[in-house]
Amino acid sequence: MRKISADWIVPVSGAPVPGGVVIVDYDGKIISVDNREQFDNAGLEIHTGIICPGFINAHCHLELSYMHSKIPEHVGMAKFIIDLIDYRNGFRLSGESHYPEIIYDAIRRSEKEMQENGIVAVGDISNDTYTFDFKINSSLKYHTFVECFGFYPENAGKYFIQSLNIFQEARNKNLSASITPHAPYSVPPELFRLIFSFTENHPPIFSFHSQESKAENDFFETGSGDFTKVFGHFRLPLSIFQSTGKNSLQSVLPFFPEKKKLMLVHNTRSDSSDFELAARLNPETYFCTCPNANLYIQNSLPDYSHWKNYPDRICIGTDSLASNHQLSVLEEMKTIQRHDASVSTHQLVQWSTLNGAHFFGWDKELGSITPGKKPGLNLITDMDEEMKFTSASKVVKLI
Ligand SMILES: [Zn+2]
Repeated sequence: MRKISADWIVPVSGAPVPGGVVIVDYDGKIISVDNREQFDNAGLEIHTGIICPGFINAHCHLELSYMHSKIPEHVGMAKFIIDLIDYRNGFRLSGESHYPEIIYDAIRRSEKEMQENGIVAVGDISNDTYTFDFKINSSLKYHTFVECFGFYPENAGKYFIQSLNIFQEARNKNLSASITPHAPYSVPPELFRLIFSFTENHPPIFSFHSQESKAENDFFETGSGDFTKVFGHFRLPLSIFQSTGKNSLQSVLPFFPEKKKLMLVHNTRSDSSDFELAARLNPETYFCTCPNANLYIQNSLPDYSHWKNYPDRICIGTDSLASNHQLSVLEEMKTIQRHDASVSTHQLVQWSTLNGAHFFGWDKELGSITPGKKPGLNLITDMDEEMKFTSASKVVKLI
C-alpha cells in the first residue's frame, strides 16, 4: 500500500483536496482519498505539486509519428494538407525499402513518450494498420478510429471497402475500433451514408475533424478560398465538391446519427452557435481541442469562452507529431491556460481525464481518483501559488 500526498489532490470526481492523501494498493487501485491530518507524516510519500489521474489523449495519429519536424509550421491548413500528403507520398515512393521500419521506430518512441508524459489511454486515428501490433501489447489503452475519406462521390463504395478491410484487421486483433469520417471537405454525402449505415463498430463512437480553419468554412460557404488550392494541387475537379452557403459544420451535421457519441475535433473556428447546434442535434456530442497543433499549423487558437459552457464534454488531444513538437497532454493544458487564464487547472484536468473516459466508455477504470478505479497517478510540479501552470510545469508519472 502507498500513501501519497501533495500540495493538492485533484480527484476530478470531487473538489480538489489541499494537502490530501491518496491511498493506493500495489496494483494501482485507489483505496481512498483523505485529508492529511489523519496521518502520521512519517508513513507518507509527500510531493510538491498537484496529483491528478492519468491523462486521456483524446486525439492522436500515432502512425504519423515519423513525420516529426518534417512539415513546415504556420503555413495554414490548405498548405499543411498539401505538404503532409506530398511528404507521405514521397516517402512511400522514395524507394527506401526500410520505410516501414522507420514508421515502426517512430511509433515505438511515441508510445514511450506518451507513457512518460502520464498518458494512460488514447483515441487514435488510423488510415493504415502500422500501429495495430503495438496496440495489442501496449500498457496504454486505445480506441482506434479507422478514418474513411475520399473525394469522388462515385467512388464512395471503394473508399469504404478500404476502411472496412483496415477495420476488420483491427477487430481480428481484438482492438476496440470504429469506422469514422475524416473531415467535412473530404467526405461526400454518399460516403457519409455508407459510414453511418455500418453497424459493426466496436463500440459505435465517432470522431470528426471539424472547423479546423477559416478556409474550411469559406469553402463550404462560397466554394472559394484556400481549399481550392488543395483541389488544384491534387488535380481534383472542383465540380465534385458542392458548396452549401452554410459553414462546414452546419452543412454536414445532418448526416450524423442522433444519439451516437461524436467527438468533434479542433473546432478552432466554431462559434457558440455551432456548439449549440451540434449539442442540440446530438446531446452525445463532445468537443476536442488540440491547441498546439492549431498553433503549429495556423498560429491561432480557439476562443475558449464558449467552450466552458460544456464542462463535461470537452476533451484534449495532442494530434500527431506531424503538427506538434511533442505528445504531451500537459503541454496542451499549459497552452490553453496561457492563452485564457480564466480556464482553471481543475477544469483543464477534467478535460484531460474524466471527460475522455466518459466518451470512450473507460470511466469504470480511468478518469478520476475514485476508490476502486485504477486511473494512474500523475504528479505535476512547478505550479504557481494560485495552482496555475507555469512554463516550467512538468509531469511525473507516479503510477
Ligand atoms: Zn487529427
